[in-house]
Order: sequence, then structure tokens, then C-alpha cells
Amino acid sequence: MSATRRRPLVSGNWKMHKDHLETIHACSELGLRLGRDESAAVDVSIHPPFTDLRSAQSVIEAEGVPVSLGAQNCASADSGAFTGEVSAVMLARLRVEYVIVGHSERRAMFGEDDEVVAAKLRAVFRNGMVPICCVGEDAAERDAGQTADRLQAQVRAAIGDLPGGDVARMVIAYEPVWAIGAGEPATPDDAQQAAATIRSEVAEVAGAPAAAGLRILYGGSVGPDSAVPLASVSDIDGLLVGGASLDPGAFTEIVKGVATTLR
Ligand code: PEP
Repeated sequence: MSATRRRPLVSGNWKMHKDHLETIHACSELGLRLGRDESAAVDVSIHPPFTDLRSAQSVIEAEGVPVSLGAQNCASADSGAFTGEVSAVMLARLRVEYVIVGHSERRAMFGEDDEVVAAKLRAVFRNGMVPICCVGEDAAERDAGQTADRLQAQVRAAIGDLPGGDVARMVIAYEPVWAIGAGEPATPDDAQQAAATIRSEVAEVAGAPAAAGLRILYGGSVGPDSAVPLASVSDIDGLLVGGASLDPGAFTEIVKGVATTLR
């Protein structure tokens, strides 16, 4: 199914780390480290906390840092009486390009079910941005041999009746819950098998062109050593990096590795 290579994407999920001053420094450092060779070969996004987005936007634009701005979450509604929420409208105004939805930490700790994730995904599209929708099995599901069932159910619930053109533009991140923050990623073979399952489910729900266009990332304990083998398998189009993305040096190494390999 993956005869043609899609443009790779490496995304850094900073989670609840770095205040806006630390973000300013990190963005500047990325600007010094990332060159034209990388940006010619790979898309890069960083996803700082909401309070840092305006600062990150200013540095990225003023210094020409070759990264796209990303967010970690958004509300499903565009405005209203939703205390503490941040809407996709607001993110789009900050020139955010990518929004993570359905991260396993939000599913597990903040009660976001498949229905909420699907509504957020649609809010991202409604406001002209690209969703990075996270799916993945937990350790119990893996041990019970339910990985494929879990992935198929999550994908089907997320993309449901979306037009094929939207699905082709979106990103799905395969993030096995047991690998996140564990220090040990999935093997490239396991990541490929999961990504192939995701892509064929997308083909069934949204059609073959959507499945051929959609980018699938692997996420879960990626570091400079594991990045290239994971990003090299045929159905993986890039990486979602948590812990290692907090260090501009390590993140740059990952981006350079992917750029060199998938150029
Ligand atoms: C994540 O939480 O999206 C993630 C990939 O984390 P880590 O790389 O730290 O496992």
C-alpha cells in the first residue's frame, strides 16, 4: 500500500514542560541548529504548552526558525462558556498548523473518549489546521492480542464520516501506551505492523486515496538512536517525540537522521 513516500513529519510534544521564557530559548536554539537541508526534506512541528504559543510564534516568525507551530489539545467547541478551555479558533489565529488530539494521557487522565476525540478532530479541520490524532493499545490489550482490534476501533471512531480529502491531509500517530515514557520503543517491525493495520483501516473507511495520502507517525520513547530505524519502515512517515524533544540537541539529531534517511 505504501509504494510512494509521503513527506516525513517529526513532531515534538513538549507536554507540560517549559515556561514561555524557556520556550523562547529553545526555539532560538532550534533555529541555530536546523538548516535548509532538513527543512527541504522533512516537516517539523513543536507543540509547547498553550501559555507559550504566542512567544514561540514570535520567535519562529522573527528568526525564521524552520518549524511549524503545534498545539497539544483544543476544545471541540469554537467559543462559549467553557471555563479553562482553548478553542481551535484561537489556535488558528496564532498560526498554529498542527494540533494533537486524543493523546493517551488525555484519554486516560482527562476522560476523553472516542467521541470527544472525534469532535476535537473536526474542530481542528473546521479551523483550517491539521490534526495529529493519537491511537494506540495499552499493555493489557497488547498482551491479550487485541492491538489490531483496538487500533481499528479508534481509527474508525476518529475518521468516521470525514471526507476522504480531509483524511488524506491528516496525521495519525501510532503511540502504544506501554511505550510512552518507558525508555524502550516498539520495534520497527511491530511499529510497521501497527501502521499497516491503521492504513488498511483508513482505506476501508475513507478509501484508498485517503489511505495513500495520510501520514502515520510512530511515537513512544523515540530517541536519537531509535529514530532512523523506526522512521524507515514503509508505513511510518515520521515520529512524534515526547521526552527527547525537550532537548533541542537531541531533537535536532532526530530530525537530521530522518531527513538524511528519507530524503
Ligand atoms: C508522547 O507522549 O507523545 C511521547 C511520544 O512521549 P515519549 O517520547 O516521552 O515516550
